[in-house]
Amino acid sequence: MTGIKGTTQIFGILGYPVGHSISPLMHNRAFELAGLDMCYIPFEVDPAQLDHAIGSLAVLGVKGVNVTIPFKEDVLPHCQKLGESARILGAVNTISLRDHTVYGDNTDCDGFINAWREEVQSPLEGTRVIIFGAGGSAKAVYYALAREKVKKITLFTRDLTKAHRIYNHFSAMFPELQEETGSLSDEEMLQQSLCDCDVIINCTPVGMWPHTDEAPAVLPQQMKPSTLLYDLVYNPAETLLLREGRARSLRIYNGLGMLLHQGALSFEIWTGMRFPLQEVRNFLKENLDL
Ligand code: NAP
Repeated sequence: MTGIKGTTQIFGILGYPVGHSISPLMHNRAFELAGLDMCYIPFEVDPAQLDHAIGSLAVLGVKGVNVTIPFKEDVLPHCQKLGESARILGAVNTISLRDHTVYGDNTDCDGFINAWREEVQSPLEGTRVIIFGAGGSAKAVYYALAREKVKKITLFTRDLTKAHRIYNHFSAMFPELQEETGSLSDEEMLQQSLCDCDVIINCTPVGMWPHTDEAPAVLPQQMKPSTLLYDLVYNPAETLLLREGRARSLRIYNGLGMLLHQGALSFEIWTGMRFPLQEVRNFLKENLDL
């Protein structure tokens, strides 16, 4: 990287591991395009050293970090002020340090919805949605969908207790929402639900590089062509799940849009400026074959 000066403000990503992250490429390009004297670097932190790492951010004058697996929940107690999504989800993906205060926000939820509005555009209200997975991104997507007034969410997971935990977390907040959980190994229920739903969202890492020959589920041969299939994975650009969806004439979307939109919201929190979304999207597509 060129152009780092004595005045350059430092941002970064805190996780373990972080070597796979595209965020440094994305944010450094955005800072450059916006003409900002800022840089973004990876902080791979041993989980046993998280407390030291967070304490050091302010000491070293770091202005903000994204937080990724496995720290999104662990950093919560270190934040003195929380945005609404971070408070409701109990997870932080964006930390800002200003005025001697640590602010925690979560941009995954709004990032998903903004990407949906930009790329998919179909209304979510009244739809029946299947989510694969019950981890951090599934919880953020669940909250986003509930706010959009979807009719029903079915969580398919390996571990049903995690699915029930998400349901219990939101049931009082969204009493109208119909909820169902199912095991990914219950083939009969899975196939039936996939034929009946309007939207399918993969919130597991299954299919991500280098395990590109895996999919969280096999799609039935006969599906409604109006079914929308969204995979949060963006590397590869077309996962096996999306390939199967394409073969069944479904409308398919990968996670690049969400990556860009959640990053855009972090960028806006830190800089107060608009994120150059299309330019950064083109840059990532050109440089990463996404
Ligand atoms: P997470 O908190 O670790 O949750 C992963 C979920 O996937 C868990 O429910 C896990 O089940 C399930 N899972 C893992 N391996 C599985 C397998 N082989 N078969 C079935 N289920 C499996 O991770 P996350 O933060 O939710 O992220 C999930 C994926 O979304 C990752 O690939 C991540 O890169 C992607 N993501 C993309 C964006 C974006 O902006 N596009 C944003 C966030 C996340 P168990 O609990 O049983 O292990």
